[in-house]
Order: sequence, then C-alpha cells, then structure tokens
Amino acid sequence: MRIDLHTHSLASDGTQSPRELVTAARASGLDVVAITDHDTAAGWDEARLAAYDVGIELVRGMEVSTRYRGHGVHLLAYLPDPTQPDLMEALERIVGGRDTRVPAMLEALNRLDISITADDVRAANPGTTVVGRPHVADALVAMKVVETRDDAFERYLKVGRPAYVDRYATPLPDMIGIVARAGGVSVVAHPWARLGPDGLPERDIARLAEAGLAGLEVDHQQHDAATRDRLRGIARDLDLVATGSSDHHGAGKTDHELGCNTTDPDAYARLLGLAAAAAAASGCDVPDVVRP
Ligand code: AMP
Ligand code: FE
Ligand code: FE
Ligand code: ZN
Repeated sequence: MRIDLHTHSLASDGTQSPRELVTAARASGLDVVAITDHDTAAGWDEARLAAYDVGIELVRGMEVSTRYRGHGVHLLAYLPDPTQPDLMEALERIVGGRDTRVPAMLEALNRLDISITADDVRAANPGTTVVGRPHVADALVAMKVVETRDDAFERYLKVGRPAYVDRYATPLPDMIGIVARAGGVSVVAHPWARLGPDGLPERDIARLAEAGLAGLEVDHQQHDAATRDRLRGIARDLDLVATGSSDHHGAGKTDHELGCNTTDPDAYARLLGLAAAAAAASGCDVPDVVRP
C-alpha cells in the first residue's frame, strides 16, 4: 500500500486542480492520498468527487500556518471539521493576513522598479483561494523578471530578501488545541526542513506531544538521511506517529513528485485511529476518509 499524506492543489500554491491532483495520484500508483492545501479546505469537495471517479482513498486535511518561538511552523491537520468555529476563525485570520500582505510585497517590488500589480498576480494564478509568495513568484515568472519560482524566492521573496513581508500565523500550541476541538489530528510538517533542530528542538517537540500533537513528518525531501534518522528516533521515544510524504506542488516545486516519500501502512492506521478518537471526543461533524 502506497500512502502520500501531503499534497497541494490550485486551492493554495499547487499547480493542479484538485481533480487533476487526485487523478495524478492514482496514475502514479498511490493507494491513499491526502490533500493538504495551505490554510484552506477549498479543494476538498472537488477532490472527493474525483477520488470516487478514479478510485483512490482520500484523506482531507490542510497545512496550517503557525508560529512557535518566533519561527514559522507548518502544521498538517487531518480530518478536522472545517466549520468548527475556532478553526474557522483562525483560518479566516490567517487568510486575511495573507491577503493584506500582497500589496506590501508588490510595493516593495515596485520600489525595485518592477512594475507588478495585483492584477498580474491574479492573472498568473486563476482560481486560487489562498494567496501566497508562490503566486507572486509565478507572476514574476510570467513577466519574465525571473525564470523560476525558486529564482523569485532567492532574489526577492525569502526571509531577508527585499520583498519579504511577514504575516499572521496562529501560535502552534493553540492550533494543536483547535485542531483537536475540531475533531482532527495534528502532524508537524517537515519539522527540520529550513532551520534544522534549532527551529524546533527535541524538548519543544516533547512539550507539543504533551499538548496533543499526534505525529511528525519524518520522510520529506527537505530532510537528509541523518535528519530522518534523528526525527524517527524522537518520534519513537515520544510515541508520535512518523509519516512520510511528497509535499507535491504540481509543477510549482521540483523534486517533490507524488509518492517520492510515503507513509508506512501501520503508521497510517495509527493516525486514523487517533483521528477517530479525536472525532468522537469533539462531537464535531468531521469528514470521513473517502473510500470508493
Ligand atoms: P507563504 O505561505 O506565502 O509564506 O509561502 C510559503 C510557500 O512558498 C511554501 O509553502 C512553499 O510552498 C513555497 N516556497 C518556499 N520557499 C520556496 C522556494 N525557495 N522555492 C519555491 N517555493 C518555495
Ligand atoms: Fe506550499
Ligand atoms: Fe510546508
Ligand atoms: Zn506543503
């Protein structure tokens, strides 16, 4: 059984519609795929219908923007009720922060004599509900200011570059609690991808486990072999579920093809068991796993 628990669609910064994403997941030989767009459930319905059509098991989730000790941390939330009031309010605040950041990024680029407008960003990304730096990057590519998304981040958009603008993200322990109240389970996405162990030290992971964290995404393209070994050991010691996934973004990220990392079937079963327990305790109307 091949299981990929982290992918993006056009609802956030992937380049495939939810239907194209789910269809591609089936075509690449996956048995289970999770759709986890940044800060939104907007792709869920289309993905669900497509999963029935192509015959693949679908887990509905999202990758929520959080903050912990001054660093951004991406939290994968699987099977939460997206209409739970606390979750809805947090997502609205995060998406609002994304929207208000765009004009500030464009102003910074204008100051560098790049005449990019909000229309350019929209034109490069029709259909997006959650706007982020990748969409500004795509507009810069379309305008031939840079060649690729990566170039746009390197030159303008990443932390420390001239058009970087911070935005709101929910405190991580708060979000773990919100996801639990919404009947879902939390897994930290690519915990040591950018900053390594300093970004989220083991003692902090232990605190988060006590706060209800269910798992760590161990197998991810941005973790080298030594990092994966250490994170797997931490997961074992703390009794956390270790997952693996592609973090596929369609053509938006190279070297993140569907199924390039996968989750062990036993780990997946454990995660679903924790989700079922969270759902029962919450009393929420959570989404089920789609099994055609
Ligand atoms: P944002 O959520 O708007 O802050 O943008 C962060 C997103 O940009 C991440 O989720 C990645 O998908 C993408 N990203 C971050 N760094 C890069 C990079 N160097 N090249 C391409 N995409 C990136
Ligand atoms: Fe992304
Ligand atoms: Fe991420
Ligand atoms: Zn992701």
